[in-house]
Amino acid sequence: MDRRRFIGSVGLGLTVLSNALGRSGSSAPQLTILQTNDTHSRIDPFPMDGGRNQGLGGVARRKVLIDQIRRREEHTLLVDSGDIFQGTPYYNLYGGEVEIEAMNQMGYEVATVGNHEFDNGIEGLEKTMPKAGFEWVSSNLDWSGAKSLAPLVKPWTIREIGPFKVGLFGLLCELEGMVSASHHEGVVYLDPVESARRSVHELRARGCNVIVCLSHMGFPTRSDGEQLRDDRLPEKVEGVDLVLGGHSHTFLDELVELRRKGGGVTRITQQGWGGMRLGRVDVALGKSDSLVIRQDPLLVSPANGSV
Ligand SMILES: [Zn+2]
Repeated sequence: MDRRRFIGSVGLGLTVLSNALGRSGSSAPQLTILQTNDTHSRIDPFPMDGGRNQGLGGVARRKVLIDQIRRREEHTLLVDSGDIFQGTPYYNLYGGEVEIEAMNQMGYEVATVGNHEFDNGIEGLEKTMPKAGFEWVSSNLDWSGAKSLAPLVKPWTIREIGPFKVGLFGLLCELEGMVSASHHEGVVYLDPVESARRSVHELRARGCNVIVCLSHMGFPTRSDGEQLRDDRLPEKVEGVDLVLGGHSHTFLDELVELRRKGGGVTRITQQGWGGMRLGRVDVALGKSDSLVIRQDPLLVSPANGSV
């Protein structure tokens, strides 16, 4: 399978409001997972400057879409896959507080840590992380040397939503070459494969029926070489149902479905960057423990969710 054919440009015209919101009414219980990644301090929509992204995104419009879906769907979960910070003057001026407050207002529940979260060092994170009304998960960072932050970041968490017991764990790409050592003092990078295996084991042992990886490892690009990216996780880690990715700013217009050696399928998706797209993945419990998973992302555009 050519995975790259799934890599879209911006996915314009991908989704219209009617098909994205009109899923309710089916009888089997469904969990609707909403996701963003690499929002990069884009509080406002992209400016009307003639660029290809003009008018897209913006947290106010995203909130309208999220609220609409929450009103229609009984079981929802809102998550982010990292790189919340950096990219506009909001971060330079306010150090991430605006981004975190916006996520609190939208009702984010779980997020993982991206490499740009370290841009103001540990000191910067000490100011922002505690203000989050959501949980942080990162399974392959050991925070025990970053004292005040250690209790705020867990390898994994569990959300019980209707019949769904959802286990979520976080993964981050190599820190070396991405984050200068002085900016992550006390935070130690751990092997992602071992960390993921441990998390999946713990989550399954606790009876989770949906395992989600919030990954800031990236989807492969041509220049990646041998770096571990999301597409190689299923061959190394059993038991992950869904990878909600980030870091490579990839718009995956369809779920990438990879069969695992031990049986079962891992699905991967990613929603580009800048909050231009709100990911929507619907999960239903199928026969004999299988999951039925579909994706239907929403373009955050003036036509969808006007404010
Ligand atoms: Zn990143």
